[in-house]
Amino acid sequence: MKAAVVHNFNEPLTIEDVPKPTPGPDDVVVKVEASGLCHTDIHAAQGDWPVKPKLPFIPGHEGVGIVESAGRNVKHIKEGDRVAMPWLGYACSTCEYCTSGWETLCEQQQNTGYSIDGGYAEYALSNANYVGLVPDTVNPMEAAPLTCAGVTTYKAVKVSGARSSDLVAVFGIGGLGHLAMQYANVTGATVAAVDLVDEKLTLAKELGATYGFNAATGDAVDEIKKLGGADVAICVAVSPKAFEQAYRSLRRGGTLVFVALPADNYMQLPIFETVLNGIKIVGSIVGTRVDLTETFELHAAGKTRVMYETRKLEQVNESFVEVEKGAVKARLVFDMN
Ligand code: NAD
Ligand code: ZN
Repeated sequence: MKAAVVHNFNEPLTIEDVPKPTPGPDDVVVKVEASGLCHTDIHAAQGDWPVKPKLPFIPGHEGVGIVESAGRNVKHIKEGDRVAMPWLGYACSTCEYCTSGWETLCEQQQNTGYSIDGGYAEYALSNANYVGLVPDTVNPMEAAPLTCAGVTTYKAVKVSGARSSDLVAVFGIGGLGHLAMQYANVTGATVAAVDLVDEKLTLAKELGATYGFNAATGDAVDEIKKLGGADVAICVAVSPKAFEQAYRSLRRGGTLVFVALPADNYMQLPIFETVLNGIKIVGSIVGTRVDLTETFELHAAGKTRVMYETRKLEQVNESFVEVEKGAVKARLVFDMN
């Protein structure tokens, strides 16, 4: 089968013929129809993070496709089902995190497209207990971005506690950000979108943001402060500077949610202002299986719009460059058919 493979960090991916997987007792083999390009795949291929993937590997954790075969223990999913293969590819199911509905914090977890091969391939192998069933009413090209960008920001908005009277500032209107602002809208909150690219702010307004601020040409913090400050700021921009701006845009009692994972791992955080202003800071990692189901349900109910453009898997390296340059409207999805 065809796959895009990372052999070395900071070298282009290669398109190769690799062996097609066969399912173990708890697995499914999925014929991939659509595979989204998350910025995490770029971090993975570049070895950006403190914990690096083992080389070689196949990236991709927004793979969606049809179950071609299932292992003998798999009862709740059958051949022909459409499933999504998210970042959380496996968790132990018995630790305190798993049993309390926080399987995304499991210390034994395996991650799709990182520690296990992912969706940048014609076929992918997944543990059946960690795939999400895609409703018939959600098409695979839209299901792909929902599988990470969607569920991650749905969860980020959930943990932010955003409510109808709040001003929610979303920093970075990329794959994650264009969905984060829609989940904030679903709560009834008012949204201020921040990016460095005017086209992204135009898109944000089309999708329901009330305000759009360009942090490259103006002072986004000042603009948000003029509105009274943000009750919630969600940082999905790949830059510590954006985290610092998101922090400074908060009003007293506000909540900053960390979501992006820039290679440059540190930001400046003032202790005095954090204490006196009663600021809350929370890290949010993807979402659970229940969150993924809810993300699909919201989309099926017409509450979110997924903005995507398609590419061929052979264009993977050019696609990475496009995303890094901020030249993509929202999300790129590899059309595997
Ligand atoms: P993306 O490249 O599609 O979007 C990033 C956006 O941020 C772009 O629109 C870009 O123009 C904008 N941006 C860059 N610098 C900025 C700045 N200084 N101020 C404002 N905007 C700025 O990336 P993505 O796929 O949406 O992923 C975003 C980040 O989230 C990545 O670091 C990724 O690894 C991370 N991520 C985290 C989780 C999680 O569970 N926490 C899940 C998925 C992705
Ligand atoms: Zn992702």
